[in-house]
Amino acid sequence: MAVAILSTSLAVTPNGRWFRMRRPSGHREQQHDVHGMRLALEEAQAALVAGEVPVGAVLMKHGELIARGRNRMKGLADPRRHAEVDCIDEAQDRGWRGANAFENCTLYVTVEPCAMCCGAIVLARIPRVVFGAWDEKAGMAGSLHDLLRHPRLNHKAEVIAGVLAEECGELISGFFEERRARP
Ligand code: ZN
Repeated sequence: MAVAILSTSLAVTPNGRWFRMRRPSGHREQQHDVHGMRLALEEAQAALVAGEVPVGAVLMKHGELIARGRNRMKGLADPRRHAEVDCIDEAQDRGWRGANAFENCTLYVTVEPCAMCCGAIVLARIPRVVFGAWDEKAGMAGSLHDLLRHPRLNHKAEVIAGVLAEECGELISGFFEERRARP
């Protein structure tokens, strides 16, 4: 029983909501998550270079990269082209299709997913989501709501928040600060 209590921790989101999270089961899992987030950050940097809001995502299965994605809203003039959706699309293009295609996969994304992306994650039945920075304005994985772990939905993902949060957050806040400073 003591182990069960110690294996999860309760945190408060920047919006003041409770957020329960399983603690990484060991150093190896933590290393995997940092590695996955570094790859997602590479995608976010590529988005930045392309003039997009810098958010990146990758899908990993047993520590191996299966797809990458990044924001392409501006380039494709489509408000739905978020990094998570882009990443799921790439995986599907590579043949990861069907009801259980994403079994044992983890989606890494630099910023907390929005409602649309949480919906896509639930429908794709992705079992584990690791994100970097909180999104207090639009995040639906803990900030405004918790769609990935909604008790009434028939798919729930495990959610790990705050991996490389500072780097992920600075990238996006720097982008918006610079955009505001432009004449
Ligand atoms: Zn989204």
